[in-house]
Amino acid sequence: MRRKYICGNWKMNKTSSEALAFANKINDFEFENVDVLIAPSFVSLESLKKSVKDKIEVAAQNVSEFDDGAFTGEVSTNMLKDIGVRNVIIGHSERREKFLESDEIVNAKIKRALSDNLFVILCLGESLEIKEENKELDFVKNELLNSLSGVENLKNIAIAYEPIWAIGTGKTCSPEDAEKMCREIREIINKNYGEISKEIRILYGGSVKPSNAKEILAKENIDGVLVGGASLDVNDFIEIIKCGE
Ligand code: PEP
Repeated sequence: MRRKYICGNWKMNKTSSEALAFANKINDFEFENVDVLIAPSFVSLESLKKSVKDKIEVAAQNVSEFDDGAFTGEVSTNMLKDIGVRNVIIGHSERREKFLESDEIVNAKIKRALSDNLFVILCLGESLEIKEENKELDFVKNELLNSLSGVENLKNIAIAYEPIWAIGTGKTCSPEDAEKMCREIREIINKNYGEISKEIRILYGGSVKPSNAKEILAKENIDGVLVGGASLDVNDFIEIIKCGE
């Protein structure tokens, strides 16, 4: 039985004081049967980690593929571990598109994170052009296998299928199409990695909000959601968590 995973990605939003105000409110909300994770900016990671209750996991939105050293502006896995952060989002489409992270870079980051015992949420998803050419299945398959090239064990990985055309646009992929792709991803994992495909959590992301979360989370192969915009409002985020309970 895979527990639903409700993850918020704040992107480059919220100051540390705003993050603290969010923590104070969400701490009063009780949940039992779901896992909850929030990914704030690097600047707020340590304070958010200290201010949210233990049940709420905290993740970095990115990490360097390199060991500590001369990499100005970067943050290492070592630094995350030192402040008690155990999770990291890797390969978000904004990193891939705006910061030119290739599958090779994503792969190197995943390997670095796993070798330091971090839990990875790997993001994948096709652009509108690819979808319009009906090539999304091949694209996602390649992105998945390239990103995981040489990774032998998926036990510390969750996958987030996030069609780029649905991120921050208000356009949601239909729950049926999201389920279809998540099922495909599980089948690819089954062919390449075997039994772990039954345990690995596969999330959907792209304009998830309180009004559509329940229907999305009811799908058999969708084990959670990665939420951008709607995770910024504590009341909306709580409503989405309730949909996973
Ligand atoms: C995201 O940032 O991963 C995301 C899915 O954003 P939004 O929910 O705003 O579409």
